[in-house]
Amino acid sequence: MIENDKFREECGIFGVFSRELEVAPLIYYGLIALQHRGQESAGIAVSNGREILQKKGLGLVDEVFRGYNLEELKGALGIGHVRYSTFGGSSLVNAQPLTFKCRLGNLSLAHNGNLVNAGEIREQLEGQGTIFQTTNDSEVIAHLLAKSTTSELEGAIISALSQVKGAYSLLIMTLDKLIAIRDPHGIRPLVLGKYHKSYVVASETCALDTIGAEFIREINPGEMVVIDKDGVFSSTIFAGKCKGFCSFEYIYFSRPDSELQGKNVHSVRKNLGKILAKNYPVQGDLVTGVPDSSLSAAAGFAEELKIPYEMGLVRNRYIGRTFIKPSQELRNIGVSLKLNPVKQLVNGKRVVMVDDSIVRGTTAKKIVNLLREAGAKEVHVRISAPPVRFPCHLGIDTSSKGELLANSRDVEKMREIIGADSLAFLTEKELLEGIGFTDGLCTGCFTGDYPVQIKGGKKLEI
Ligand code: AMP
Repeated sequence: MIENDKFREECGIFGVFSRELEVAPLIYYGLIALQHRGQESAGIAVSNGREILQKKGLGLVDEVFRGYNLEELKGALGIGHVRYSTFGGSSLVNAQPLTFKCRLGNLSLAHNGNLVNAGEIREQLEGQGTIFQTTNDSEVIAHLLAKSTTSELEGAIISALSQVKGAYSLLIMTLDKLIAIRDPHGIRPLVLGKYHKSYVVASETCALDTIGAEFIREINPGEMVVIDKDGVFSSTIFAGKCKGFCSFEYIYFSRPDSELQGKNVHSVRKNLGKILAKNYPVQGDLVTGVPDSSLSAAAGFAEELKIPYEMGLVRNRYIGRTFIKPSQELRNIGVSLKLNPVKQLVNGKRVVMVDDSIVRGTTAKKIVNLLREAGAKEVHVRISAPPVRFPCHLGIDTSSKGELLANSRDVEKMREIIGADSLAFLTEKELLEGIGFTDGLCTGCFTGDYPVQIKGGKKLEI
């Protein structure tokens, strides 16, 4: 049995349907705006009306397409993908879009999210002789599509997706159509926009802003949007399911300039920082965030308690992905390369360090240590989320249960391990209030209750 966790992936997707424009450059810029959602591989597939052309590779978008002439991807319809995976294997075969030919024609697929029953379906299909070329969930969808006995594509999509469970924000491209679908729970984001006369679908609104597209609306949970030469057609293909949008998109994953469910991510994070300050105050001389993901929450925390908000830690933005082999000494250099405290600021001070999450606890421990080495008198840690006690099965890499610092440890034990003078987290209730929804969000990584049934886990009934 293949563990579903093996396919845990973080991804960003972007697609454009145009009648007049070359779409590859737009997709390239859209993917760069979504780079934070995945840094391991990138790819673009376009249709020129006769065939699907594609280019994909390992690395950042800029690395994959450096020296490549985007004019080779000529076409007015295309999709793109950025991907990061934990265990799925970093080989090129797993890079998306996944392009294939089947009874339904030439198709290309870009998927964000994790299916929780991909392992089971894969086993069944392999038992029937299906040959898999990749280890990603998207190929499971591709095979289900190809095997469907329904002759028209939309019907085949419904039939294939009714067999899968979990998170999928999905782009499917034919030679002349762009189809966007969001799972019934709407776990991962997906938005529709317009660029002149062209339609754009993207994981986050920041990618629409980047290319100068106008935001139209979110694709709804369970909705399929088909865009072709006749216009945009929407249908609800899966109705009546509970909602389960990922709360971690607000906490950490999405870009602060994006809007999720009508809320700006930076403002939500700042609000979470304010609630943290109100409910878990501490006397400090300065507040610092950990660049970049917790800066909004740190600003909210400082504003609420009227403590100076300072740049106590500086991140080196040019470090890239480090290939330094992990001897302890080199690992320590790795941390200092990435983050350096501003000694003159923190020396002799009571520092409040606000971070957005503690997963394995390695980051918090290292930063507390760095701040102390820089002379901080006290280091108080405040986290703008609840403790991550459970793995995410739906598309965020939050490690396996045994690796999580909060797994079977209380806050005092965690404080001791990271070496802080005090430590506090938000509760689930405070988190939901801070985001502005009291239900309808997935908080599975904090509670173990997921919007879909996980083997050995609980299902959330909202
Ligand atoms: P850890 O050292 O495992 O506790 O990592 C926690 C730190 O990583 C926090 O500072 C978060 O901002 C960041 N973080 C949280 N979730 C993720 C994720 N899925 N991928 C990469 N970084 C993350």
